[in-house]
Order: sequence, then structure tokens, then C-alpha cells
Amino acid sequence: MRWPCPVFVPGDPGYAEEFATLNHTVEHRPRLVVGARTSSDVARAVAYACDHSLSVCVQSTGHGMSAPADGVLITTRRLDTVDVDPVRRTARLGAGTRWKDVIPRTAAHGLAPLNGSSPEVGTVGYVLGGGVGMLGRQYGYAADHVSAVEVVTADARVRGIGPEREPELFRGLLGSKGNLGVVTGIEVGLFAVTSFYGGGLYFPGERVPDLLRTYASWTRSAPEALATSILLSTYPDTEGVAPALRGRRTAHLRVAHFGSDTEAEQLLAPLRRVGPVLLDTLRRRAYTDIGSVHHEPVAPYSVCESGFFTGPLGEAELRAVLRLAGPDARDPMMVELRHHSGAYHRAPSTPNVVAGRNAHFTVFLGSPVDEEGPTATARRHTGARRLFRGVDQGTVLNFLGAGHGRDAVRAAYSDEDHRRLRALKAEFDPANVFRVNHNITPREPEEHPDHAPHP
Ligand SMILES: Cc1cc2nc3c(=O)[nH]c(=O)nc-3n(C[C@H](O)[C@H](O)[C@H](O)COP(=O)(O)OP(=O)(O)OC[C@H]3O[C@@H](n4cnc5c(N)ncnc54)[C@H](O)[C@@H]3O)c2cc1C
Repeated sequence: MRWPCPVFVPGDPGYAEEFATLNHTVEHRPRLVVGARTSSDVARAVAYACDHSLSVCVQSTGHGMSAPADGVLITTRRLDTVDVDPVRRTARLGAGTRWKDVIPRTAAHGLAPLNGSSPEVGTVGYVLGGGVGMLGRQYGYAADHVSAVEVVTADARVRGIGPEREPELFRGLLGSKGNLGVVTGIEVGLFAVTSFYGGGLYFPGERVPDLLRTYASWTRSAPEALATSILLSTYPDTEGVAPALRGRRTAHLRVAHFGSDTEAEQLLAPLRRVGPVLLDTLRRRAYTDIGSVHHEPVAPYSVCESGFFTGPLGEAELRAVLRLAGPDARDPMMVELRHHSGAYHRAPSTPNVVAGRNAHFTVFLGSPVDEEGPTATARRHTGARRLFRGVDQGTVLNFLGAGHGRDAVRAAYSDEDHRRLRALKAEFDPANVFRVNHNITPREPEEHPDHAPHP
């Protein structure tokens, strides 16, 4: 077969480079890699996979792969267009774009997208998983502000869909990642934001218990314009790490305030008082500098990742955080608490299947992969998550990495949305061609829609 775009099979030069991932917990071994340049290339790749009874996996940046590709792997990075419409305050984004390609383009018009913490992350994978970002406490999930999607479904049709065109498919796509098709482009909303007051305050490990207790109560009254999170981790004792942090267990308070500097400092005063502060990087910044707030890794790593929504954190949950990542934790994990609430609690104007509509926090867990592999490490995460069962409000799909079982995926949806998604799978992907992901299986014909069993 002649392809109008780059394709690779095992042994070809460039085969492995084409699908290099950021997180090495997933090792792809696809039979065919299609470097799509157009929607028609994607449609052709899907048709090829169906004709040869192969699975389809889609990868943009490799920041969130959850399973290894074994059939056809479609890489999207060549779908790299960014078209900003400053009048409608929207941007059309190709499936291969990253937030770092988009933010400078929208900033030129005084506008910002609802990107997440890392500008390296792919726009489409992020939005399809919900999209939790620093403007989210004011505007909600990125998925709540999508006005159009172009998607290739398992019948290899290219469909332009939106709130009025195929609304049920549109609803199901936003929040189920790649389960219903390969998205080739999306149109997202933009917001009039040009700068913020933010950066980080770093506290020593021994202040973590007080900081967590203060943070848990302080967040109850934090305004929507203030986005914060705390990361508990240990910095390596190496060049490139700020001397004050080298080799230290720290709590990194991340801040982005979309209001005045003075107001921000007044709001942050109770947290500063927990001090001493080892390093203070708070200042007024252009929105194009938003990636510096979380300051996340860009070099490849091998880490098991998971995350879940919670209600308010009480004393039992704070003790759980300390057990996992506090100054006296044995074999500490990386734990991040992000303040949620605000606009995340408001229903979007067009419904989608993104969860966490009552959550007060997201909890992210990260730990190096054990010698026994990602599945064994994922079991450790399941045990850690159980410590929060009193307040657990479901899986954050975007924070769920590889090696986790079906229950973790099932817990990303309400019963109603899970039934809806299984019905959509039965309609649009009955052979489960799109199964190399956090998979939702199609509803069987004999299953009554109201009594779909747990997968
Ligand atoms: C450093 C870092 C920071 C992050 N910060 C945030 C954050 O602040 N907020 C947040 O919500 N998430 C965050 N994430 C999670 C991230 O949003 C998800 O991992 C997301 O899926 C990454 O998308 P990608 O395209 O970059 O990754 P990829 O690994 O290329 O894709 C991941 C998955 O997304 C789906 N997907 C990607 N492209 C398509 C497509 N065109 N059509 C259909 N499905 C597709 C597929 O299921 C694919 O397996 C972060 C991840 C990392 C590693």
C-alpha cells in the first residue's frame, strides 16, 4: 500500500524515534506507525487497522500513554496548525499541537487558553481527558469550552461534530480520551488574561505537617482567581537544582493569582507564616510564563502515576498524606494536592463526561516503577488511594498512567456516564478498535442499558 505520509515498520530507521514517550513505563511495539499529516491519513490508518484486525493507538507527545501499542500507532505531531480567531475568542488546534505552540499565539491577542501546568503537554489529549489548569477555578475544565471537534471514527469516516452536530458523540468524546475515535482537531475557547502573580514558595520537609493543616483550612475561603497546589517531593543533589533545595525533601506551594499582587500577598500571608521559606519565586509574570509555576520535568523518566478527586481533606486524610510523603515517610512517594472547587463545580453549557464536579482537591501520586514493573507499582498506588476512601470522588483520568486496572478507569465515570459511553462504544466502535487506552468496552447487544454490569 502506498501512503501519502511517513510510515514505519519494525526495523525501519526512525521507527522507535517516531513514538518515543516521555514516561518510559510504556514500551510500544506497533506493527505499523503512521505519521499522519492530514485527517485523510488518519482515516486511511484506521481503515487499514480494521481491514487487518489490528488495534489503533494514538500518540501526540507521549506524556500520557497508558498502554503499549501492538497494532497500528498513529502519531499526530505533524497535525500542527494553530488558528486563532480573536473576535470569537476561539482557537482551532491540530491534534499534534502542544500548549507551548498555542500560548504565545493567543497571547499576541491578549488571550489565554485553559492549558494545564506543563506547556509540553499535547492540547488534544489534555482536553479529551478533561483538562485541569490554573484558570480552571474560574472557568472550569478545558473540555467545558470546546465548540467543535473533527474526529475519525472506527468506520474511517472524518466527522465534524459539535454541540448541535452529533451531540451525543460530542458529549462522550469530551472526557473519555481516545475511546471513541482519533481526534484530528478541536476548537477551544480563549479568555482575556495577559498576566498573573505567581511562582512558588518552597518549605522544608519538617514544616509539611503544619503547612498541610493550614492549607486544608485556608483553601476553604480562597477566591476562584487564586489557583494553588502543593507538591511534596525530594530534590536531587545535583547541578541545576537551586542550592537551597538540593538533596532536600520539600513542599512546593505553587501559586497563580489572576488579580493584584497586593491582594495575592494578603491572601498568602497565613501560608507564608508557616515558614521558613527556602526559596521564593513569586512575582508578576506574563501569561506566557505560566509553565514556570509548576516547573515540571521535560527529560524522560519512568514513573508510575495516578490521581483521584477528593472532598474536603480532614485529619485522617492529612495523616495519610504524611504517611505517604511526609518528613518521616519510609520510601516516600511524590504527592501533589491541587485545590479544585470553584468553576469546576458548575455544569458546562454543553454536557460532557468529565467527572469531579463536587471535588475540593485532586490528589496526584507518583513513584518510580518497582523492579517488578508498572503493574506492581500501580497496586501500591491502589493501596495508597484506599487511605482516602472516606473522601474519594473518582479517578482523574488525565492523571492515570499505565499499569492500572479496569476498576481505576471505571471509577473515572458516574454510572450514568459509563452506561452512556458503553452504548456509544457499541454504536461507534463495536469491535473496540480503539482499545490501547484507558479502555471502555462496548455494551453487549444482550445487555439491558439500565443494568450494564461492571466491566
Ligand atoms: C508533566 C505533565 C504535566 C501534566 N499536567 C497536567 C495538568 O496540569 N492538567 C491535566 O489535566 N493534565 C495534566 N497532565 C496529564 C496530561 O494532560 C495527559 O497525560 C494527556 O493525556 C497528555 O496528552 P498528550 O497528547 O500530551 O499525550 P499522549 O501520551 O500523546 O496521549 C495520551 C493519550 O491521550 C489520548 N489522545 C491523545 N491525542 C489524541 C487524539 N488526537 N485523539 C484521541 N485521543 C488522543 C490517547 O488516549 C492517548 O493514549 C500532565 C502530564 C504530564 C506528563
